[in-house]
Amino acid sequence: MLLLTPGPTPVPDEVSRALAEPLLHHRTPEFQALLEEVRQGLRELFQTEQEVLLVGTSGTGVMEAAVVNLFSPGDRVVVIDAGKFGSRWTELCQAYQVKAHVLRLERGKALDPAQLESFLASEGQGAKAVLFQASETSTGLKLPVQEITKIAHRVGALSICDSITALGAFDLPMDAWGIDVLLSSSQKALMLPPGLSFIALSERAWRAQAEAKLPRYSLDLGRQLKAQKKNLTAWTPPTQIIQGLRMSLRLLLKDGLPARLQQISELARFSRAEAKRLNLELVSPDSPSEALTAVWIPAGLKIEGSIPKQLREKYGIVIAGGQDELEGRILRISHFGGVTTEHLIRGYQALEAILRKAGHSMELSNF
Ligand SMILES: *Cc1c(COP(=O)(O)O)cnc(C)c1O
Repeated sequence: MLLLTPGPTPVPDEVSRALAEPLLHHRTPEFQALLEEVRQGLRELFQTEQEVLLVGTSGTGVMEAAVVNLFSPGDRVVVIDAGKFGSRWTELCQAYQVKAHVLRLERGKALDPAQLESFLASEGQGAKAVLFQASETSTGLKLPVQEITKIAHRVGALSICDSITALGAFDLPMDAWGIDVLLSSSQKALMLPPGLSFIALSERAWRAQAEAKLPRYSLDLGRQLKAQKKNLTAWTPPTQIIQGLRMSLRLLLKDGLPARLQQISELARFSRAEAKRLNLELVSPDSPSEALTAVWIPAGLKIEGSIPKQLREKYGIVIAGGQDELEGRILRISHFGGVTTEHLIRGYQALEAILRKAGHSMELSNF
């Protein structure tokens, strides 16, 4: 199966081999050397001097870690809700009695920074933080992280950025932009199986962490920080994935992060050109994410089952459809993590064949 989904993304052979290496015990010098190397690589990827903490959980789990470490019951925050993952921030806050004031964007529409400014001056006044996605995976929208961070700081709020499909897909210099919390997960740009997540906090966020009162135990980031500085982990970590992580970081960073981001940006451009060639309209045309291309399914297709189902069953290619109100209305094709140009060509050729058969009109293939 070829995965063109925005997580998990394909795992390169070198990483698969590293994942299959013999098990290491997590309290041995060998494992400490491994941690030392991945800690350095993660700081490079996050573009930060801060420690990037390893948390053995899915992406949602590390979002939860951000909430329980930074807030107290009754705190007020602003959530920028550009899609399903924005809504997840709201649900998480609600689960912990943190009051979320939601700035809801029309699906696929870009954020106008002035909109956020006026929201923070009205309904969102006194918010302790602005929570948002750098790349909203449900619509393929890229959000203006640097502007959001500046605006949050102007009112004394923290900038808490879910960069799960953004980190390693486009430039997000955490320290240079002053982002307070940046987090991601193994099954996206890092080309690994799911189960391991990453989070870094700024100085300002660590101060908030020390004062925050929400209950926490295994997700207490202070404990992990203390352990990691000694090349240890607070709890038994997913050691196998960390062995794979060493290899994936080597691959990602071998020519430097800018070169990697350039590659992804070229894949994104190629994908958008293919979508255009197939006469498909982008869901987020004004600010598309480099991580994935989301397109509207043309009306009036004569098709058995769904496009993702046909791609999977006839071609062995897995893409994502829409979620919630976008279910059955959009397609999402990923082009970050382990996706290569060859993968994308295969994906679009198969999609072209299905669309043609369903009566969709488009230009001729260039291949
Ligand atoms: C994939 C993803 C998540 C995390 O999902 P999990 O299934 O919990 O790993 C969170 N936010 C965004 C933007 C994502 O793309």
